[in-house]
Formats: sequence, structure tokens, C-alpha cells
Amino acid sequence: MLFSLKNFVKTTRFKHTLWFTSIFLILEITSGLIFYFYLKNSMYKDLDSSLSEQAESIYKFVKDSKIDFEKFQPDSVYSSSSELVYDLIFDLLVMNSRNTYIQVQSKNKVIFKSENLGNNEISFRVGQTDRPKLISFRKPDISPYMIRGAFFSRPGYKITAAYPEKHIDETLSSLLEIYVIISPFFLIISIIGGAFISAKSLARIDSIIKRTDEITTQNLDENIEGAGFNDEYGRLVRTMNKMIARIKTSIEMMNQFSISASHELKTPLTILRGELELALKSPKTPGEYREVLCSNYEETLRLIDIVDKLFFLSKIDHSSLKLEMQKVDSGEFINETCSQIRNLGKQRGIEIEAIVDSAGIIEIDKGLMQRVLTNLVDNAIKYGEENQKVCIKSSHYKKGKIILSVLNKGEGIPEKEVEKIFERFYRVDSSRSRETGGIGLGLSISKAIVDYHGGEIQLKSAPGGVTEFSIILNSIESASV
Ligand code: ADP
Repeated sequence: MLFSLKNFVKTTRFKHTLWFTSIFLILEITSGLIFYFYLKNSMYKDLDSSLSEQAESIYKFVKDSKIDFEKFQPDSVYSSSSELVYDLIFDLLVMNSRNTYIQVQSKNKVIFKSENLGNNEISFRVGQTDRPKLISFRKPDISPYMIRGAFFSRPGYKITAAYPEKHIDETLSSLLEIYVIISPFFLIISIIGGAFISAKSLARIDSIIKRTDEITTQNLDENIEGAGFNDEYGRLVRTMNKMIARIKTSIEMMNQFSISASHELKTPLTILRGELELALKSPKTPGEYREVLCSNYEETLRLIDIVDKLFFLSKIDHSSLKLEMQKVDSGEFINETCSQIRNLGKQRGIEIEAIVDSAGIIEIDKGLMQRVLTNLVDNAIKYGEENQKVCIKSSHYKKGKIILSVLNKGEGIPEKEVEKIFERFYRVDSSRSRETGGIGLGLSISKAIVDYHGGEIQLKSAPGGVTEFSIILNSIESASV
């Protein structure tokens, strides 16, 4: 596969890398800025406290000397007041950098200036305070750079200790230079780091994609590995494994359905073929031919019935069945259906009775719901006891629900079969069911119709006792009974 940049920029891998790189860079720039300003601040703090200390010490030295500098007279030891002050603060001066500017004023007269001030003086106007006042200023005669000064004004004296900010600026700009030089390396490290983290976090997705690609209908038993992890990937794998299991069940059901459907279609076709072959083998009397034709006709009707039912189920499966909904009174509906199918049980001496315990207005497709009830009653006649009653009942379930139920006495349905009874082509006793003409689609069609109405179908059966199929439907309002 050819590499395409357009497609690559759309990948999660690229987006992750971009995200990680951006986060890395933002962190790097922010920490760099924080470090820069912290350093700048602490350098100024150090300088300020050192200048303040110097100004205070000088003040202390000159004040403690108790010399009246106003009245100073040159003598053989000191030719000027400057020499005298120099001596007083000598210890401090030797410890100082040559760049420190010191100026001492007694009243308004400058009595000492450090050599680096030359002929210049630093004049300032600061009110008396307990601590020196710190000010940045520019004085091109002394230095082309900004100067930081500690100005200390006390009764009788004004002390200045100043230092060029050049050194701080130089340190900070070399720091910036280093930062700019190493930035591209940081960028490369960020991209490599971002790509690495992204590749690591997507590696499991890659393996899920690879495994999913390999899944076919032949290997639905094999799960995707990694379901044990307790993270998003683990959840994704578990969800996909559940989906595979659902697909497997659906495929198995479809296979089972095809097997059952072909089996049900094959039986009447085999009978048809057998009878036709026999009829063609040797000449027959008109009566014998008629008998063959009647049997063939019956098998053809059975085939049509199976195909009709399958077609109906597929329409429901694809939601292409249109319901003609109408509001009916459940009691009236029960009575009407009962009178239509009253004669169904005659052959087995079974009477069909309608019971209206309570009724409500239900919204149904009358034709389809009658098909469900007829189906249930037909089963009740087929599988119930002879000469008994089959009841169709309307009653209240709970608020807003109506039950239409069909009850019969008979062998019943064993509890373990109740789950499977609504499956397509499922019969409890297939040979007996076949004798009665059943193919195991009646209940699945009934359930599909009830589900399509948004209702529910339930079964309660006591073997040897009463079997009751209940259709639970929403009722719109209660009707008078
Ligand atoms: P069939 O066409 O075989 O009647 P159904 O789907 O209508 O198919 O019913 C499925 C199976 O359920 C039947 O084969 C039968 O064994 C059982 N069954 C249905 N109704 C009753 C009933 N009222 N009493 C006992 N068994 C029943």
C-alpha cells in the first residue's frame, strides 16, 4: 500500500502524536518561562539585598566614627575627607566588586566617591527611611547600562551603593541563547516522545483490527484476545466478543431455520413424488387416479401453507408488514372471535367459550389479532383433552394493560420446553404434532404478531392441568363490561 500524506494526517496515530507533541512543547515553554522569570527575580533580590546591606554598613561605619566631616581639616595622615572615609570603610571596599559604585554624602557635601565614578556624582532625592530605597536608573556618564541603586538617607548622611544591571542582563541573555539552541532538540524529543506514546497506546487497537480482519463465519468460536484488561481497550474487546457471539447465534439460528424449512418442504414434496411415481408405474382405475390427485392436492395445500407462513414471517422480520390499527373493545373482540371459530372444536367434542372478566379499549389490527387467537385456540383443540372446554378470556392485568388469554385442559407443556416453544419449527412432540398437521410455526407467528403490536405473549402450563397462553396489550381506556 502506497504511503499517502493526506490519509496519514487523518489517522489517530498522527493526531495523537500532534497532541502529545503540543502538550510537551507547551510544558517545555511554560517551565522555561517560569524558570527565566524566577531566576531574574531572585538575581534582582540578591543584588538588592547586597546593595542595601552595603549602604547600611557604610552608614553605620561613618556614623559610629562620630567624626564631624563638615569641620574636617587636612592633616599629615589624611589629606582629604575622602581618604578618611576610605579608611573607615576599607574592609567593605576590598570585599566589593570593582563595578560597585559607592558615594557618601555628609549633609549635601560628597565626602567619598568610589574610583569608578570618576568626576561624576549620583544625586538623588529620597526621604528618610529605615531601609534603603531601591531604584533602577540610567546615567550614561557612568555606564551605558541601567544601574540598580540602594539609596539610604539618614540624618546627616546620604549613602548610595549601586551596581550595573549589565551582569544580570548578560546572564539572562546567555540563558535565553542556550534555550534557543536546545529548543530544536526539545522539539525533536517531543515529536519522538509523542510518536512513541501514540504508537504504544494504539498498538492494542492494531492487534484488535488485525484479529477482527481475520474473523469469518468459519472461526466465530475464537475470541479476540485482551478481554481481561480493565481499561477502555478491555471493554472494547469484551463488547466486540459479545457482538461476535451474537452474530454466531444469529448464523446458527439462520442455519437451523434453513435446515428446518427445507426439511418441512421436503416431506410433502417426497410424498408427492412417491405417489406420482407409483401412479405412473402402472395403469390405474379412474377412482385410484382420483385418490392420488386428492392426496397430491392435500400435500400441495400443505406446501402452500408452509410457504405462506414463511413469507409472512419474513415480512414481519423486515418490518414490511403494514398494520391496520383500530380501537376495539376487548370484550366485544373476544365475543366476535369466539362466534367466528365456535365450530372449530366440534370434531373433538370441544366447546369454545368467551369469558369477559373485565374489558378495555385496545388498539389492534383486528385481522392479525384474530389470527393469533385462532392459532392459540386451534392448538388448544389439537393438544387439549377431548370433550372439554376451551376458553377465550378478556381480563385486566395491571393498570393500563389488558390480557387476552386462551385456556385449555390437557397434557400441557413441560416446564423445560416453555422457553423454546416460541422458536420457529419447534415442536414438543414432532411426531404427534405432524399427525395433527402442525409444522411448529403457529406460535412463532403468534409471538411475532403480538411483538409487532408492542405487546407480550406469556405461557403458563401445568402438565395434566390447565395450559394458558396470555397476550398482554396496552389498553387506552377501560370500557363498560
Ligand atoms: P404446531 O404447528 O406444531 O402446532 P405451534 O408453533 O403452534 O406449532 O406449536 C408448537 C408446539 O407447542 C406444538 O407442536 C405443541 O407441541 C405445543 N403446544 C402448543 N399449544 C399447546 C397446548 N395448548 N397444549 C399443549 N401443547 C401445545
